[in-house]
Amino acid sequence: MASATDSTPMQQNKLFNRTRAQLAGWYAGVMGLILSVSGLVAYEMLAYTHWQAVEQELKSISGTLHDTLEPKLQRPNQLEPVVKQVLPGLCVVGTSCSQDTQSRHVLGIVQTGHYYVRFFDQSGQMLAQLSSPPPGLPPPTTQEGWQTIRDHNGSRYRQVTLLLKTATGGPWSYMQIGRSLQEFDDHLATLRLLLAVGLPLSMLMVGGASWWLAGLAMQPVFHSYAQIQQFTADAAHELRTPIAAIRATVEAVLDTDSLSSEEVQETLSAIARQNHRLAALVQDLLLLSRMDQKKSVDRHQSCCLNDLISDLVESLSVLEIAAPIQLTAQIRANEPLYVTGDENQLSRLIANLIVNALQYTPNGGIVTVTLEQADTHALIHIQDTGIGIASEHQLRIFERFYRVSGDRSRQTGGAGLGLAIAKAIVEAHQGSLKVQSELGNGSRFTICLPLE
Ligand code: ADP
Repeated sequence: MASATDSTPMQQNKLFNRTRAQLAGWYAGVMGLILSVSGLVAYEMLAYTHWQAVEQELKSISGTLHDTLEPKLQRPNQLEPVVKQVLPGLCVVGTSCSQDTQSRHVLGIVQTGHYYVRFFDQSGQMLAQLSSPPPGLPPPTTQEGWQTIRDHNGSRYRQVTLLLKTATGGPWSYMQIGRSLQEFDDHLATLRLLLAVGLPLSMLMVGGASWWLAGLAMQPVFHSYAQIQQFTADAAHELRTPIAAIRATVEAVLDTDSLSSEEVQETLSAIARQNHRLAALVQDLLLLSRMDQKKSVDRHQSCCLNDLISDLVESLSVLEIAAPIQLTAQIRANEPLYVTGDENQLSRLIANLIVNALQYTPNGGIVTVTLEQADTHALIHIQDTGIGIASEHQLRIFERFYRVSGDRSRQTGGAGLGLAIAKAIVEAHQGSLKVQSELGNGSRFTICLPLE
């Protein structure tokens, strides 16, 4: 038996389980309704066509008998020999008849066992009958038309009563032809049984399938939900660190009776550092959330990548972290390359990658930024001779708050949002961002952007 720990995180989540059950209930309800209505319609259609076939058969036999007998009839209310010729085995009232009529056929087509034919005069007096009708049938009526009647066992019969006329056009007598509806009723009973057994069985299968389908449908929703939960937890964690540091600094100062101006200076700059970190983090989160809502950039400026890269390399070279690392730009394009987009965002994208390369490259290393053209695209490579990234981390480094090694990244002050922001900016500019790296042998990030 599967234990609770074997179940997936989605199955352990009460909210998702409840929603899944509701969704499955809806699916099953709708499917059940469709199935029931289809079953009912199919049943009605089958019953209707079968009924039509029964009536058609009765109609054609009564019509044939009517057309065969009528031209030959002469005397009203008299059973004439021609009737006995057409229907051999006809039992005339008042004479003794053998009971072998069960095996005879009406017009040589239909077994008389299912059919009966009765002749009666205009006052309703029985003249003759073919095949003894089932006991308990209501007496013949002198009313023309179709009827459904029951014998005393409750079995149903369908009959048609016709007034036959003599050759001269005067009324002769009534002819009544009936047939048992047993076969029809049995057929319908079988159909009803099939529906009664089949529908609940199908409903069980629909229920199972609905549960499974609801699970499938919920999976992407649960995945996003889990990501949001993780993101919120990570964001709260990252925000807590500088807030806790500020609080600790303030409490330490409050506990101290008097502070020298040097100590005040130190305390304030520590608070400013943490505040800066907090502000940067909030800004990053806001940027990501804005980019989530809008998948494309607002501003459509023409940006010259050659200038952008040269300026960035120049300004970043003077940074403290770049001092012991050689940072160079190689512009391999023959002419200036322009892309359309938000210049600030593009600058942020390239800066993030260069700062990362500088941060993860030991002193004495080299970071090279190369710009080249490939058909209709501009390629920007940021290559370093740094620590590199193991292949199992290469896909995950673009996730929000993902850091290869928490300790080292914390040392560099990064929250793990730099590459997530870079990826979001590249995608908003219809470009792509890839990484090639080997642990210990440096990394190469490549930005591909469509040219103007
Ligand atoms: P952080 O702000 O922590 O640098 P990023 O999203 O920019 O976050 O990077 C995610 C992780 O990817 C970093 O923690 C680091 O381990 C790894 N990384 C990014 N760039 C490089 C690089 N050039 N060399 C080695 N590792 C890198």
